[in-house]
Amino acid sequence: MIAAYVGLGANLGDLRHTLETALADLADVTSVQLERVSSAWRSAPVDSDGPDYLNAVARVRTDLPPLTLLAALQAIESRHGRERPYRNAPRTLDLDLLLYGDQTVDLDRLSVPHPRLHQRAFVLRPLLELDPALSAPGLGLLADFLSATADQVLQRETLPLRPPHAGL
Ligand code: AMP
Repeated sequence: MIAAYVGLGANLGDLRHTLETALADLADVTSVQLERVSSAWRSAPVDSDGPDYLNAVARVRTDLPPLTLLAALQAIESRHGRERPYRNAPRTLDLDLLLYGDQTVDLDRLSVPHPRLHQRAFVLRPLLELDPALSAPGLGLLADFLSATADQVLQRETLPLRPPHAGL
């Protein structure tokens, strides 16, 4: 089993409900165990428009290959009615495969570690919440990138995400 990290973001609709149901959907995927979920973090959009985002990171254990896991994430996105009228448009739900064990994937459809992972506080902070000593192939210790993102305004919500029936 591989430990993988999935980034979740929403900025349209009922953000908390979207993240919680997406987490439950993730827990329902065959061969995926939802292990831990970070706090919800509220952030202003980066390279995107619309209202604030709510972001979180989940750690899963899986024996699905990376492209199969990506397909499962994309199926969950579609079920949440994500449309892509233009690049970086506001989205109901965005799911990214951030890390897949210590493996690197470099394909057209999938880059792991996620190429912008170390530049975005809304990814780094929840990742480090789950494992402060986390490192990524090609990047090293993720905590070393925190200071470079310190200007990105981010707020941790005290109310935990509670995915229904996810067994957490
Ligand atoms: P986005 O609009 O940011 O969700 O980007 C979606 C596109 O990025 C899809 O075509 C994916 O195939 C591609 N992609 C590449 N690497 C990743 C990754 N690590 N996680 C999710 N999508 C990825």
